[in-house]
Amino acid sequence: MARKDALLNLRSILVRRRDALRNALAGDLTLLRELRSESPGDVMDAAYDSAQDEISSQLAEVESRELASIENALDRMKSGHYGLCEVCNSRIPMARLNALPYATMCIGCQRDVERTGYSPASRREEQEEMSGDVELDVS
Ligand SMILES: [Zn+2]
Repeated sequence: MARKDALLNLRSILVRRRDALRNALAGDLTLLRELRSESPGDVMDAAYDSAQDEISSQLAEVESRELASIENALDRMKSGHYGLCEVCNSRIPMARLNALPYATMCIGCQRDVERTGYSPASRREEQEEMSGDVELDVS
């Protein structure tokens, strides 16, 4: 399958997943159950299992976070940035996207982040904080 088609396919999965999660957060698990029976795969299992229990505020938080990840992925698709590593801008392999549709980094950059324990965003924040300290020292 061409990468473009594969991405379109992934997009329709994400859209349906988003709708199911929205419903689940509103207390309706029907769609989530349907998705589970249609699409085998580990990606969808975890959230479903958690949704099967009564939706506590903690679970709702997990689902809200996943929903945010999906919406982020869909935004990136719209702007044409989906599938590109947000750190080094290289193409994230389709196999990785299929396994991890919300991935925003290639494996190399992801490993860097895991090794250092910093995401590029938190690294920026730290630098800002440090420069803030310097200004304080000067005054
Ligand atoms: Zn990268």
